[in-house]
Amino acid sequence: MASVYTTEKSNKDFRVAIVGGGMTGLACAVGLARFGIHCDIFEAAPKFDEVGAGVGLGPNALRALEGLGLLDAVLANTDEAQKAARRMLYISGIGDHEQVYDYETCSTFTDADRGIGIFRPAFLSAVLPLLPDPKVTHFNKRCTSISASSAAYSIHFADGSTHEADLVIGADGIRSTTRAAVVGDKKVLKFTNTSAYRGLVPLQTLIDEGIKTDMSKRVLNFVGIDKHIISFPIRSGQIINVVAFATDNSVPVGSVEVNGPWVQPASQQELLDRYEGWGPDVMIILKQLKTPNKWYIHTLAPLETFVKGKVALIGDAAHGMVPHLGSGAGQGFEDVYVLCQLLGHPATNISNLEDVLKAYDAVRQPRANMVLSESLRSGVICESFGLPGYGMDDMEGHLANIWDPIWRHDLDGDVLSALVRLGWSS
Ligand SMILES: Cc1cc2nc3c(=O)[nH]c(=O)nc-3n(C[C@H](O)[C@H](O)[C@H](O)COP(=O)(O)OP(=O)(O)OC[C@H]3O[C@@H](n4cnc5c(N)ncnc54)[C@H](O)[C@@H]3O)c2cc1C
Repeated sequence: MASVYTTEKSNKDFRVAIVGGGMTGLACAVGLARFGIHCDIFEAAPKFDEVGAGVGLGPNALRALEGLGLLDAVLANTDEAQKAARRMLYISGIGDHEQVYDYETCSTFTDADRGIGIFRPAFLSAVLPLLPDPKVTHFNKRCTSISASSAAYSIHFADGSTHEADLVIGADGIRSTTRAAVVGDKKVLKFTNTSAYRGLVPLQTLIDEGIKTDMSKRVLNFVGIDKHIISFPIRSGQIINVVAFATDNSVPVGSVEVNGPWVQPASQQELLDRYEGWGPDVMIILKQLKTPNKWYIHTLAPLETFVKGKVALIGDAAHGMVPHLGSGAGQGFEDVYVLCQLLGHPATNISNLEDVLKAYDAVRQPRANMVLSESLRSGVICESFGLPGYGMDDMEGHLANIWDPIWRHDLDGDVLSALVRLGWSS
C-alpha cells in the first residue's frame, strides 16, 4: 500500500503513550516510529506474550501491515502452509458432512487477494525486532485510570506510579481500562453465551482414525445448530488448529457474567457432550482434543466514539468483537494504519491533535463497528444451519460476499477522507 504522503521523519511537539502491548499496540509503536514519533508502551504483563494459537489475517489486514512496514517481517515468520488461500469451505457438521458453501469457488477473489494464517507468537517474533529503543517499553505497568489536567494526561498504574503524556492510545484489549476515559462507566462488554474450545491436533492422527474430510489444505467451517467448528492447517500443514464454538441460546446475550478467567482448561467430556449427535468426522476431531482450553467469547456493544479529547482507542479496546469472521486483529491493524498516517502528517501538532483524533474516529468508528456487527451475524448464520430459513438452499444467500466489504475495503480512501475533513487535502 502506498503512503498517502511522504513519510519523512518528523519531530512532533507531543508525547505519546500506548497502553497495552498486544498485536495492535505493538504495531502502533512500530508505525509511529516510522514517522519519528516518540512513544512509550505500558504493558501490564512482565513481558510481551501471545497465546500459542493461530490468527487469520485477511487481505485488508495484510495491506494495513504493508503500509505500516510490517508485512515483510510477518511473511518471513509465516510458514508456507499458512500462506495458502484462506477462503473458507463450509461443511455440514452433521450426517455425511455435505458441502454447504465454498467461498473459494463462489467468490470473485483471486490469489492476489491473499490472506494468511499466522501463529500468534510468530507475530511477536516478527514485530519485536522492529520496535524502537527498548527503553520505550515498560513492563508490569497495569493502567488503573487516566486523569486529565489542562496541560496533559496522567496515566495511573497499579504499582502507584504515574506517567504524563499529551496523547494516550488505549490498546489494552477487550477488557480495557483506558476505555473508561472515552465512554465513562457505561457497560459495553457482554458475554455472548458462546464458548470456544481450542486445541491443536496432529493431521496424521486424524488420518489414522479414518477421517474422510481433507483437513490438510483449507480453512474449514463445520456448521450446525448452536455450534460450529473452524479448523485450519498450521506448521507446514502437519498440525490442525481447531476452534469448536458452542452457544447456549437459552439465555439472553449479556445476561450472564463470567467471573474469573476468560480462558480456562475444560474437560474433553464437556466438549463431547456438547457436540453429541454431530457427524463422524467432527467426533474424530473432537476426540483428539484431549485437554481443550475453553474461551468465553465476549463482544462490545458498538461504541459511539473511539476518542475523547486526546485519548484514542485502538484494537479490541475500541471494538472487541466475536471471532466469527476472523477480523478483530485486522480491524486493529486498520486503526493503527489510519492513526499513524494522521499523526505522522506534517501538519499534525499538539494544537490540532483533538481534531486529528476526531478525523480518525470519523472513518474508523463506522467501519470497525460494521465489521463487529457482521461478525455477530456470521456467528448466527454458522449456528443456524438446519433451522427454517437456514437450509442448504438458503446458505449461499447468507454467506455470499460476507467477507467482500471487509477484505476489499479502500483504507487509503479512509485516510484521504480524514485528511479532507481536516482540510489538509485538496
Ligand atoms: C478464539 C479467538 C479467535 C480469534 N481469531 C482471530 C482471527 O482469526 N483473526 C483476527 O483478525 N482476529 C481474531 N481474533 C481477535 C484477535 O485475537 C484480537 O482482535 C486481537 O488479539 C486484539 O489485539 P489487541 O492488541 O487490540 O488486544 P490484546 O491482544 O487483548 O492485547 C492487549 C494488551 O494489553 C495488555 N493490557 C490489558 N490491560 C492492561 C492495562 N490495564 N494496562 C496495561 N496493559 C494492559 C494485555 O496484557 C495485552 O498485552 C480472535 C479472538 C479469539 C478470542
